[in-house]
Amino acid sequence: TITNHMPTAELQAIDAAHHMHPFSTNEDLAKEGVRVITRAKGVYLTDSEGEEILDAMAGLWCVNIGYGRDELAEVAARQMRELPYYNTFFKTTHVPALALANKLAELAPGDLNHVFFAGGGSEANDTNIRMVRTYWAEKGKPEKNVIISRHNAYHGSTVGSASLGGMAGMHAQGGIPIPNIHHINQPNWWAEGGDMTPEEFGLARARELEEAILELGEDRVAAFIAEPVQGAGGVIVAPDTYWPEIQRICDKYEILLIADEVICGFGRTGNWFGSQTVGIRPHIMTIAKGLSSGYAPIGGSIVCDEVAGVIGNCEFNHGYTYSGHPVAAAVALENLRILEEEKVIDHVRNVAAPYLKEKWEALVDHPLVGEARIVGMMGSIALTPEKETRAKFASEPGTIGLITRERCFANNLVMRHVGDRMIISPPLIITRDEIDEMFVRIRKSLDEAHAEILRQGLMRAAA
Ligand code: PLP
Repeated sequence: TITNHMPTAELQAIDAAHHMHPFSTNEDLAKEGVRVITRAKGVYLTDSEGEEILDAMAGLWCVNIGYGRDELAEVAARQMRELPYYNTFFKTTHVPALALANKLAELAPGDLNHVFFAGGGSEANDTNIRMVRTYWAEKGKPEKNVIISRHNAYHGSTVGSASLGGMAGMHAQGGIPIPNIHHINQPNWWAEGGDMTPEEFGLARARELEEAILELGEDRVAAFIAEPVQGAGGVIVAPDTYWPEIQRICDKYEILLIADEVICGFGRTGNWFGSQTVGIRPHIMTIAKGLSSGYAPIGGSIVCDEVAGVIGNCEFNHGYTYSGHPVAAAVALENLRILEEEKVIDHVRNVAAPYLKEKWEALVDHPLVGEARIVGMMGSIALTPEKETRAKFASEPGTIGLITRERCFANNLVMRHVGDRMIISPPLIITRDEIDEMFVRIRKSLDEAHAEILRQGLMRAAA
């Protein structure tokens, strides 16, 4: 049998021979060897060499309550013994699913009172595509079937959700997008704002939604989907003028608003949901990740009364074997109990986020760092060779980000790069002392990256 106790090189060799990694090339994986993660506790991972790595990404933005909470393991074991599996397709239900739906209806704002479960965020967004199109078809408007999304958005990796997403690299493979998905630009002022103020730029980018609706025809557009704060696209925080204008446009043209809360939900932005932070009233919210803090795979769509009513009146021919999986639902409920009873979101608002913001925004004093943006517990910095002009590097986009990420990893810090932006999204339970330790590693890594970039002659602005 293969165990954690085998030599790292042997585990790496087996991995290389048989395990296909998402979003990776074999060359890149082989370069320094993959790290084998063996255990985790709180905000720290441990690898097979015994190194302790500070996880400033909370896994994939999901381990909101931190690693190693026994309560979730116990709930999972209990549920597995009592009822490991049953479905809710044909006139049956079970307590974990109905109790979790009930809890989510209580936590979600407005009349978002109904939950359709999925195995994760991608599946939930596929549900949303079919749900909003079915909704309008049932209302006698089958031609109202175009969904507008944004370039550089990430909504998942299935054919449907990757079509909603706006990642060029994903659209280049596998025959996507599916028909009737339309993309507008993202509100990334640092990279694309030109001479406009952030406020002017926010309005201009929001009005692209209105332009798209008028161009496509108001009676053709079913929904607009967006992340309240774009995550995998580089933690892009929209200017303050953006979201009120988006809400106005959705209201004016009767467009369903879908907030993809897969990252922003469950405390990440300092509220239960990112929609509350940016001040929008979605008809549907996509949830996953922080719903179970990543301890079990589960996602879903929280749906308003009107849409759920129409969908409930037809037979919605859609569902997954693991929709509302009892073990995953029980784990999610326990996670929500911890978030509530341990006042994790209060900790974010009163302790962690203000402290993190102070230290994060101070990074602009570093020679590599242009803008530093942060909302709650998700932040990004733009790396630049020339702050005053917000210049991009002359090197291939992502080169500088990759050098920086590798310095972080060498210093036992997980921080991701998106192009030449660096991003963080640590567990919400991170303490002030742990934030201090994180910044020791961040600053050391930035200094080393800067030295390396100078050494390679890469500190040059694009023409
Ligand atoms: N939506 C957003 C905003 C995400 O960030 C992600 C994953 O990173 C997804 C959807 C897809 O979720 P999953 O990977 O659980 O399918």
